[in-house]
Amino acid sequence: MATAHDMLAFIAASPSPFHCVAEGARRLAAAGYRAVDEGEPLPALEPGAGFYVERGGTLIAWRGGARSPSAAGFRILGAHTDSPNLRIKPRVESTSEGYVRWAVEPYGGLIVATWADRDLGLSGRVALRGADGLETRLVRVDRPIARIPNLAIHLNREVNEKGLTLNKQTHLPPVVALAGAAHPSAELFVSLLARELDVAPEQLLAWDLMLHDVTPPTLGGVHDEFIFSARLDNQASSYCALEALLALEDHVPEATSVIMLFDHEECGSLSERGASSALGPQLLRRVMGAHAAHDGGSLSQAMTRSLMVSADMAHAVHPAYAERHEPEHKPRINAGPVIKHNVNTRYATDAVVAARFKLACADVGAPVQEFVNRSDLTCGSTIGAISAANLACPTVDVGCAMLSMHSIREQAGAADVAWMQQAMTRVLRDG
Ligand SMILES: [Zn+2]
Repeated sequence: MATAHDMLAFIAASPSPFHCVAEGARRLAAAGYRAVDEGEPLPALEPGAGFYVERGGTLIAWRGGARSPSAAGFRILGAHTDSPNLRIKPRVESTSEGYVRWAVEPYGGLIVATWADRDLGLSGRVALRGADGLETRLVRVDRPIARIPNLAIHLNREVNEKGLTLNKQTHLPPVVALAGAAHPSAELFVSLLARELDVAPEQLLAWDLMLHDVTPPTLGGVHDEFIFSARLDNQASSYCALEALLALEDHVPEATSVIMLFDHEECGSLSERGASSALGPQLLRRVMGAHAAHDGGSLSQAMTRSLMVSADMAHAVHPAYAERHEPEHKPRINAGPVIKHNVNTRYATDAVVAARFKLACADVGAPVQEFVNRSDLTCGSTIGAISAANLACPTVDVGCAMLSMHSIREQAGAADVAWMQQAMTRVLRDG
């Protein structure tokens, strides 16, 4: 339960990918990891020494193994920091029927209807003109400043029969205020930001901002066996990877340990900091060169000796829709990590890496489950196959079982988190 509680705190600190990275960096620094500027030469990597780089919503950390990466490989834990949500457009405000609304754009594959009638805050990062040039600052407004109101059933009589359909352009802009003389609407957004950041409105240049549900994560269910929270996909896996690395404590495995928490998975991973980017292979090549025991070996040598665990959430069987699952592959909540299979490589798992992960689970006493999609339903995707191809690294796709994936508020199991973290630590330790 301590792990589940700590994960709730991690997610509560992370309303946006940028905050998730900041919270991850804070935890790494507290454990003695040192921040590295990507633009400078990497510091020499002694066995047991840890470093990290932040690039927007992407966080990569590594810790030197006892042997050089070309001799012992890397053990890599991958996940993603981003979640489907609503993002603020550049020109924000409009007034309609006496209400001020903000222009938003759906990010990733959100279940749009779940965003109605929720209390929404604002978070992300802002680029501004500071005293010494361009500055980037995190911003977080946790008050319920925005809301997407449902239409009353009296004016929408078929909503229960037809389901709630919301037009992404016209129905989603949230109401944030009544238009009035006290706050000329054109200035509302910018003046709010300026106040939050304690800067003049003219200093604000651009933003990567988004809405979030201000309801905090919590344990739930009669026996507290569930977690009810936003962004479980995939901050739960990001948390497990991060804490798996920190759980090594003073132990120095033979292989160099790496965690890669990528931004932009929900929109396809193709960006300067996504899993498709050159960031991963470029940085691993530099980490290898910086290792104190580097013997001139190549990254491709290192990759033949490496293993990546790509963690993203898995679909638990739903009691009302059990037929959506392959009959013998129905992951359950609090029944252990799920290994994900797809022969058409939507998941990277093959027999060898699946077996290695099963051994890691067995070593820590974690039960293990397996998932494969029904053959007549399209399989989802994640960073596993992309990273496997990009790094040429054997990769197993895994995840904790959950319900309500991509809803504004999701549901997972309190026990699964600790099992996943322990199995991941076992993979890092396994020389
Ligand atoms: Zn995901």
